Amino acid sequence: LTTFPLGDAIDHTLMGFLEPTSPHHDPRAEGLRTAAWRLVDLRVAHLRDLAGGVPSGAFFLTGDHGMRATWRWFAPNAALRDAGLLAIDDNGDIDLSRTRALSPNGYWVAVNRTAWQGGIVPPEEEAAVISAAVEALRAARDEAGEPIVTEIFLPEGDPELGLGGPAAGDVYYETAAGYRWSWRADTPVSSPADVGAGHGFPSTSPDMYTAFCAVGVGTGPRRIGEVHSVTVAPTVAEWIGMGPPADAVGESVLPRMRD
Ligand SMILES: [Zn+2]
Repeated sequence: LTTFPLGDAIDHTLMGFLEPTSPHHDPRAEGLRTAAWRLVDLRVAHLRDLAGGVPSGAFFLTGDHGMRATWRWFAPNAALRDAGLLAIDDNGDIDLSRTRALSPNGYWVAVNRTAWQGGIVPPEEEAAVISAAVEALRAARDEAGEPIVTEIFLPEGDPELGLGGPAAGDVYYETAAGYRWSWRADTPVSSPADVGAGHGFPSTSPDMYTAFCAVGVGTGPRRIGEVHSVTVAPTVAEWIGMGPPADAVGESVLPRMRD
């Protein structure tokens, strides 16, 4: 088992210049990216040949995310602040003693519930705070008056996404093109950012999709269609001849690869 982060590093560096709708769009990045990805191809070819040199060997290749170009900041804590759900102190930091909902990292919003040390929202008020947070996120607008948040995901409403749990968020979101997320609470809700590219966006978005392929498990080339990333571990485990990992939630797709 090996990880090979070069493709990730290349796209973090260059994908930001390849989005045609970005003000940073620069077609010259395309050739550079193609040349750099040839190194990824070489590495993959070496690994494939290595596996192919072993009797009944197989080679599985996958990633854990796609990549998205970004050139704007979205500050969910600023949206919560503007809605009166979050307070900041004189240093611009979040004042938890006066904050009912916050984003600890930019990626999601969590209720500052009394189950947390120093939390102020009792259980009977959690649902109302979540509704208010959703409203605050939906109300966030860019300088042109366009919505920044384009979709909301709730752990209970979207169980197939595997969200939630004691250390996770209560509200997740998708944003308009070009946005990445900031945990800052003392900024405008929307502001320009350096050109960049990243992941960590909703797994339902096609630009977050990755690949999963295998050589040596079937009788010839074929496509099996879209599968979830949670199928990868059980599939490889079945090929090795062992049971799926104890916490696996996906099903092996090895039979579909073999047929
Ligand atoms: Zn990365």
